[in-house]
Amino acid sequence: MSRPREERSLIIIKPDALNRSLVGEIIRRFERKGLKLVGIKMLKLDDEKLREHYSHLADKPFFPRIADFMKKWPVIALVVEGLEAVDSVRLIAGETLGRKADAGTIRGDFSMSIQANVVHASDSLENAKLEIKRFLSDNEIFDWERIDLEVIYAEDERE
Ligand code: ADP
Repeated sequence: MSRPREERSLIIIKPDALNRSLVGEIIRRFERKGLKLVGIKMLKLDDEKLREHYSHLADKPFFPRIADFMKKWPVIALVVEGLEAVDSVRLIAGETLGRKADAGTIRGDFSMSIQANVVHASDSLENAKLEIKRFLSDNEIFDWERIDLEVIYAEDERE
């Protein structure tokens, strides 16, 4: 079996979560899992960023609706790091449609909607790299060394 990779993933806490005072709860779930927070930023999205970010949905009839929703209020971008972080974050986020997402996931616990589904989470390592660059600059990412790695991973996983 190949060694698990150290990865970074981009999470966006969406405007529904901000309005519903779920920001702390969401960050807490990723922190508690053992993912390392290396970037955090509150920002307002504009049409240009949203067209890039949702380019795979640009021709869908609902695109203008999500774009309006996502730019009406600020969002919070998080960058987290860990072994196979991209998949791990997607599992914690849950599937797109909140009312069908597994209980215990963020969307499963806090969303009934497809649009207002609380968080965005990068869906591949390649997209994570692009998305991190899209929303945070290099000096907003912190390469700090955590002191509790030996209780988060086994030694042979970390090396
Ligand atoms: P995910 O966010 O789970 O990766 P997608 O990339 O398919 O899912 O979609 C991006 C976002 O677009 C979703 O999180 C959701 O907010 C929104 N979205 C997707 N499908 C619909 C839809 N049919 N109606 C409204 N919004 C949608």
